[in-house]
Amino acid sequence: MVSQNVGPEIPAGPMQQTTQKAARQATIGIDIGGTTMDAVAINEAGKIIASDVVHTHKGTDALQSGLRRLIDSLRESCSLASLTVAGIGIGVPGKVNHAKGSISDALNLGVNFFDFRKFLDSYRVPVNVENDVNAAAVAAAQTFGKKGTVVFLNMGTGLASGVVINGRIDRGISGAAGEIGHIPMDPQALRCTCGQRGCLETIASGSGIARRWGTHAKYPVKDLFDHAAQGDVTAQHIQYDLFWGAARAIQLIAQTFDPAIIALGGGVSNMGEPLLKGILTELDRFSSESAFIRSLNIPERLTTTTHLQHLGALGAGVAAQPQTQLNA
Ligand SMILES: [Zn+2]
Repeated sequence: MVSQNVGPEIPAGPMQQTTQKAARQATIGIDIGGTTMDAVAINEAGKIIASDVVHTHKGTDALQSGLRRLIDSLRESCSLASLTVAGIGIGVPGKVNHAKGSISDALNLGVNFFDFRKFLDSYRVPVNVENDVNAAAVAAAQTFGKKGTVVFLNMGTGLASGVVINGRIDRGISGAAGEIGHIPMDPQALRCTCGQRGCLETIASGSGIARRWGTHAKYPVKDLFDHAAQGDVTAQHIQYDLFWGAARAIQLIAQTFDPAIIALGGGVSNMGEPLLKGILTELDRFSSESAFIRSLNIPERLTTTTHLQHLGALGAGVAAQPQTQLNA
């Protein structure tokens, strides 16, 4: 587990030996979410050696000061561990231009456009910018094994997946690879924010649940689960659609990418056992109806990431490692 790796790492061996070697390298990874900016420093083996976090505030000025504070703090930690920072990785929601290192339309950050590479130029290290779901997929691949294909399914505000094939992110030609939330399943159902009807995201995401359950509770998904457990029939119906939609998303991933691992993450996945049980019941039902689906052994490939800390930041850091960049 990644959480076991947290803590300062002291360079091994006498100082005379370490000073004769080339300086060991570290990478900083920052996951920028709507609530917090979570940052880690990792060593060359991908182990977390330090972490820090700040609250996210809207707007470019807040983004800049948050980035500076986190990077300066982690550079200090790296320096104390005799590590040189060799790269900075960013994981961020919104429309990411990976080649240019910028984002646009990051609405929940209150930023229309931001050029990370230009802003972080003064640190004089390569800056790698990934979609936050892709960054989490990199961390899942590192945690569960890099061989073959690992898909991270983010059940957060939205529903999207990140695909890592033999350690490399599959971004697709336009950056839309794995955008599974906008596959329309029911032409009669609710209109989605993307303009289509009945997208998986309208039933199997945090925003979809908030919209359908129509609650003002701070945590709509938890509120839904509480009411469903108390016997509220409307809540049970919406909850069933969530299980069904998530199971269909997982089935689509299994058939499209045939991955070794499908890792569930994101805020909705924090519901834990009741959610997983509901999804597995649906997958079992699909299997009972089809020998083909049964032959795919989908539940055996399914795992969760809720026990892992700093997933997005770790993935952003790993994606910015010099050896990863060579393969990019
Ligand atoms: Zn849609």
